[in-house]
Amino acid sequence: NREWHLLSRPVGWPKPEDFALVETEVPTPGDGQVLVRNTHLSVDPYMRGRMSAAKSYAAPYELGKVMQGGAVGEVLASNAEGISAGDHVLHFFGWREYAVMDAKHAVKVDPEAAPPSTYLGVLGMTGLTAYAGLLRTASFKEGDVVFVSGAAGAVGSQVGQIAKLKGASRVIGSAGSDEKVELLVDEYGFDAAFNYKNGPVSEQLRAAAPDGIDVYFDNVGGEHLEAAVGSLNLRGRIAICGMISVYNNTEPAPGPRNLARLIQTRGRIEGFLVGDHYDLQPQFVSEVVPWVASGALKYRETVVDGIENTLEAFLGVLRGDNTGKMIVKL
Ligand code: NDP
Repeated sequence: NREWHLLSRPVGWPKPEDFALVETEVPTPGDGQVLVRNTHLSVDPYMRGRMSAAKSYAAPYELGKVMQGGAVGEVLASNAEGISAGDHVLHFFGWREYAVMDAKHAVKVDPEAAPPSTYLGVLGMTGLTAYAGLLRTASFKEGDVVFVSGAAGAVGSQVGQIAKLKGASRVIGSAGSDEKVELLVDEYGFDAAFNYKNGPVSEQLRAAAPDGIDVYFDNVGGEHLEAAVGSLNLRGRIAICGMISVYNNTEPAPGPRNLARLIQTRGRIEGFLVGDHYDLQPQFVSEVVPWVASGALKYRETVVDGIENTLEAFLGVLRGDNTGKMIVKL
């Protein structure tokens, strides 16, 4: 069994020396436990936060110990009722090849109904993040003009498409390459998109949304957030999902300089955590599974092969190497 340990807390961009791929014995399941061979690992931006010691919503990774993350795998042995060898499960013991866990931490998934990796992405945590953040936190309603950043990523690509499917009057996305921008418009049906590296976000947003925006779904923070506040319409809503542009900062980033606009617009900015919205899961599944099955809701995955490449895959997410959900296939 190979597993990734955190050796030291990264300052700024994580460096390979902060991590080690360690060889250990394949663990043996005790009473009520299952042994799982992981087939797909999730690498996600929030993991950068867990590498730091700062108190946050998820506990810091412990130094010298295996890291955690979403994963799906096949049950090799089970000492628990309700789960048998051969079942496929979604769980939280990623960053390793084999995992032992109490059966209550393993959720059975059907690999026939959908590819296993989708339970980490479009049908899993990132899909629910898009759904809950847009519909609940941003109080999306038909006719809204919606702007989403990180729009070619796992969460952002679903936000834009769900908004379209639910009757947005205009959806605008931003992403970090011209290929991603093309994908947003040509394949995902965004009305407009721009490459934030090609010029000031505020100018590009104003050109793409001349009548302003009603909803901003923020995956990025920084310049994007200030631009969105600047384009916000009356009673506009901003859902703060993530701020990936600041995750490797060593100093606090400056805030938007134009927050006074929230007074005249009666605007609202609200952060959210997907973990608070699992009550929406049944509704999410009943609405999104048919959309994915019919092709109305499209998704991409960037798949990296091999446990030894997990760290690079994670760093790739921070760099923008991925289009859609970044997955490590073992
Ligand atoms: P993505 O698949 O969107 O991958 C991250 C993307 O961020 C990269 O592909 C890159 O795309 C973009 N990016 C990286 N650096 C910058 C930058 N400086 N400025 C602008 N874009 C940048 O990841 P996820 O979909 O998993 O997550 C998206 C966001 O949602 C993250 O901020 C994450 O932390 C947050 N999140 C929050 C949750 C919650 O409960 N609140 C749950 C899940 C995710 P590009 O090429 O376009 O730059």
